[in-house]
Amino acid sequence: MEVVRSLGKMKDISCRARAEGRQVGLVPTMGYLHEGHMSLVRASVSECGLTVVSIFVNPFQFGPNEDFEKYPRDIAGDTKLLEKEKVDVLFLPDAGEMYPDGYATYVDVKGSLTGRLCGVSRPGHFRGVATVVAKLFNIVRPHRSYFGEKDFQQALVVRRMSSDLDLGVEVRTLPIVREDDGLAMSSRNRYLSVEERIRARAVFEAVQRASETVLSGERNAENIRRAAEKVLLSKGGISIDYIEIVDASDLQPVREVKGRILVALAVFVGKTRLLDNAILNA
Ligand code: AMP
Repeated sequence: MEVVRSLGKMKDISCRARAEGRQVGLVPTMGYLHEGHMSLVRASVSECGLTVVSIFVNPFQFGPNEDFEKYPRDIAGDTKLLEKEKVDVLFLPDAGEMYPDGYATYVDVKGSLTGRLCGVSRPGHFRGVATVVAKLFNIVRPHRSYFGEKDFQQALVVRRMSSDLDLGVEVRTLPIVREDDGLAMSSRNRYLSVEERIRARAVFEAVQRASETVLSGERNAENIRRAAEKVLLSKGGISIDYIEIVDASDLQPVREVKGRILVALAVFVGKTRLLDNAILNA
C-alpha cells in the first residue's frame, strides 16, 4: 500500500490508473477505523481496480465547540488494517495543502437536504463536508465513492452535490455495521464511559421500537416517533437532539408513513453525540 500525502502525487496516481482503464474507488474517512469503515473499504477493493482510502479530520465540518481537537487518531493502527485489505493508496492530505492561506471557496448544498436533522443541530457541518468531499473528488477523480448509511443525510448531500456539480462520481451507500449489542459502530464510541456505553444500547433499541411499531401496522408518524422517544426517555441520562420520521429520498417530514421512510435520531449520551437510523418500507 502506498501512503500518499501530497495532493499532486495523488492526482498523478489516479490519472495513471484511469489512463490504464482501471476503475478508481474512494473511501473518504476521518480515520480511527472500525468495521463500519472496513465494509466500505472491502466493497471498493472488490469493485475497483484502484482503491484509495482517505483519512482527513476536516476542520471545516466541526463547530467551534465540537470535538475537532480531541477526535481520536491512530494512523499506525489504521495503516495496518488497510494493508490487510489490500488497499492500494492511503491518502493522508495535509491540512495546510488542503486549505492554504487565502482559501476562500465553499460548497453549500442548499434546501431541505441540509436544512433538517443534523443540519439544524450542526450549522455549517454539511458545508464543511460538501467542501472537503468536492475537493477529494477533484483530487482523486474516483469513478465511485463509498459512504455509510449511518450518516444517511451526509450520503444524500454528497450524492446531490456530485450530481449538481457534474462531478460524475457514483455515490454508493452501504448498511450500518453494528456492535454485538446493536450500537452503531462509530469512532466516537470510544468517548463513552463504561456506564455510558451500557446506556447507549437504548439508541438502537429506540430505532428498533420504531421499526416494530411500523411492522405492527402503525402508520401515524407522530405515534412512531413517540414510541422511539419513550425508549430513550425510559433509560435516563440520554438527551435527545432529534427523532424524526422523514421521507428517505428527500428527508421531508411525513405525517403518514408510506413507501420508503427513514427513522433518524441523534442523541447525547453524556457529552457524546450518537447517530442512528433505519430505513423502513411501509
Ligand atoms: P467517518 O470516519 O466517521 O467520517 O466515516 C467515514 C465513512 O464511514 C462515512 O461514510 C460513514 O458513514 C461510514 N461509517 C461510519 N460508521 C459506520 C458504520 N457503523 N457502518 C457503516 N458505515 C459507517
